Amino acid sequence: MTNLRLNAVEKALARTTKSVDVPSNKISDYFGDDCFDLKKLKAAVTPAVFEQVQASIEKGAKIDPETADAVAAAVKEWAVAKGVTHCTHWFQPLTGSSAEKHDAFFDSRKGVEIFKGSTLIQQEPDASSFPNGGIRSTNLARGYTGWDPSSPFFIVESTLCIPTIFVSFTGDTLDYKMPLLKAQEAVSKVAVEVCKYFDEEVTAVSASLGCEQEYFLVDKAFYAARPDLYITGRTLFGAAPAKGQQLDDHYFGSIAPRVYAFMKDFEIACLKLGIPVQTRHNEVAPGQFEVAPLFEEINVAVDHNLLMMDVMQKVADKHDLKVLLHEKPFKGLNGSGKHNNWSLITDNGRNLFDPEGSLYFLTFLVNTVKAVHKYGDIIRGSIASAGNDHRLGANEAPPAIMSVFLGSTLTEFLDKVEATGELVYEDGEDKFMQLGIEKIPSLKLDNTDRNRTSPFAFTGNKFELRAVGSTQNSGTPMAILNLVVAEQLTQFKAEVDALIAGGKDKEEAIREVLITYIKESKAIRFEGDGYSQEWVEEAERRGLSNVKDTPRALKFLVTEQAMEVFAKHGVFSHKEIEARYEVWTEIYKTKLDIEARTMESIALTKIIPAASRYMGKLVETAAVAKSIGIESRGLVKTIEEVAYQIDVLKEGVASMATDLDRIEEMGDVVEQAIAFADTVKGVHFEKVRGAVDALEALVDDQEWPLPTYSEMLFLK
Ligand code: ADP
Ligand code: MG
Repeated sequence: MTNLRLNAVEKALARTTKSVDVPSNKISDYFGDDCFDLKKLKAAVTPAVFEQVQASIEKGAKIDPETADAVAAAVKEWAVAKGVTHCTHWFQPLTGSSAEKHDAFFDSRKGVEIFKGSTLIQQEPDASSFPNGGIRSTNLARGYTGWDPSSPFFIVESTLCIPTIFVSFTGDTLDYKMPLLKAQEAVSKVAVEVCKYFDEEVTAVSASLGCEQEYFLVDKAFYAARPDLYITGRTLFGAAPAKGQQLDDHYFGSIAPRVYAFMKDFEIACLKLGIPVQTRHNEVAPGQFEVAPLFEEINVAVDHNLLMMDVMQKVADKHDLKVLLHEKPFKGLNGSGKHNNWSLITDNGRNLFDPEGSLYFLTFLVNTVKAVHKYGDIIRGSIASAGNDHRLGANEAPPAIMSVFLGSTLTEFLDKVEATGELVYEDGEDKFMQLGIEKIPSLKLDNTDRNRTSPFAFTGNKFELRAVGSTQNSGTPMAILNLVVAEQLTQFKAEVDALIAGGKDKEEAIREVLITYIKESKAIRFEGDGYSQEWVEEAERRGLSNVKDTPRALKFLVTEQAMEVFAKHGVFSHKEIEARYEVWTEIYKTKLDIEARTMESIALTKIIPAASRYMGKLVETAAVAKSIGIESRGLVKTIEEVAYQIDVLKEGVASMATDLDRIEEMGDVVEQAIAFADTVKGVHFEKVRGAVDALEALVDDQEWPLPTYSEMLFLK
């Protein structure tokens, strides 16, 4: 009889390292070869056309049909020369992955390749089956995709991809890109106004993002032998291996040859697409890795991250590997996140979080801290997902409690402001020095002495939101971060202006408001160990929320306060956020439902049969032994243990099925989702998994059907 698992082990052991085609030793020779960016556009069209596209990116100016035709012609010519035959609007529906529908350039009636400006600008994909939370009834299922000129075109295989937004017939947003663009606009607008207190020259501010992406790799054959992995993205079962991450010997360790070949190959593909991948290393858990590109304008960075996740999977396949992007593929090992490094940069090149020129810097720093203090719950809601529930608050990733880490230098400074009620600094270069704070050196020190337990950390000249899940589209958390900072800066500006109108000196007014903010937002600042029980208790005393499951965290997005802020800045109308709330709650529920049914099926069709076969053999052996006068207590004890776990498993699966039926009957999706969190995941998953994992430790290795943790983690 064949055992998929044992076959998989054989296959994994027989793998060889694939060679990688390196186009050139100089990355600059091929960087961006598969992407059509503004530089290429500029070279291919008239100055008037280029200026209009640029005005559209910078000021939202409308692109006329002739300009669109000119852009379409230029990009088509470039693409066709590279062997491209089709084009697609590439968009980001609420399913979580990107979507595409390919159309051929070739027009059979005219016998030539055609790509019109109108096709570039707008498409109407038959989008009735994308989640929309009731925004579109199926009979009015029209959805439109519209070109986003700020993100470059790119080629995947023989298809030209056009980054687009996705909206409904009525103009409601149906994707992850549109809210981000709106939030980016909101923060930019008010940040410019605030910058003008310090620098009249600033006319635009853009948000930057660099996503550090964590992932696991397993051999393709193991993946294929684990339905839980290929159906749900995570292992629903698996006894802890003798060796996990206790020795910490994987982090930054040397990279295995097959993995290294994959990384090189995948990086080349990214670089060709214009994705500036820069760092790679082993992560904490065995089999876990990280890749990070250089930061880019936030909208492009989000697109690139999404595209990169796609490219990774395709390239991994060539190396007989599978990428696991799930937040928690393996119980007991570190999960994967996506650290979102974020900052605001002015059009004259100033990073607003660069600690130079103290009041200018402090204004943005303090307002960001205040924004997280006031709207931390909304940020928490924006990172909620079934996968991320396994990380947040699970003592290995940022806790589910929002807090801000600033490092000792800034903390001491803010504490002093708070205690004295004075924000003293003197004009001149070395303001921080005069406060007893060594400006650069100590900040650099903080930079290396990272607090890895904080969900939102200041890291020298940027903030790092670490709580985002590894599979997540960063669009939502980044939209919400920009939005709450925009709202906070708006309030700040109003307060400062009121003081100025009342006769206060500008700097005096700014200082006064900042002092109030520093005092008011003290509770959100935390420098200690975010994984500790003390922090949970301390956070509760401080009145900070600690919501550990998605259905409850998502509620933060539809409070009156949240909806008001969303609507005020045009990021989500009430209808849009309510729709999203419904979609995300439904996705959560559905994912858990799929996990439950996968568990049930594996338990009944793989685990119980394997355990019973083994038990049968033991019973036979015991009977034979007895017939020749040998009575083994050990043998009988093993039979009893196996029989007991089979009972527990069978009963666990049955009672889970009863609850699934009961939940199915509930009318309300929120109620269902909560029942899934509390009962299905909270009670049944533990019990069913417990029995299976116990059997894994008892049953003959030759009989065990699922690749084990050790095999998946160490055989590569
Ligand atoms: P680590 O946090 O692991 O020390 P780095 O400091 O190199 O790593 O940065 C991680 C990510 O942060 C990279 O993607 C990098 O490009 C990005 N980053 C650096 N500076 C900024 C910035 N000002 N704004 C946004 N992202 C940034
Ligand atoms: Mg980092």
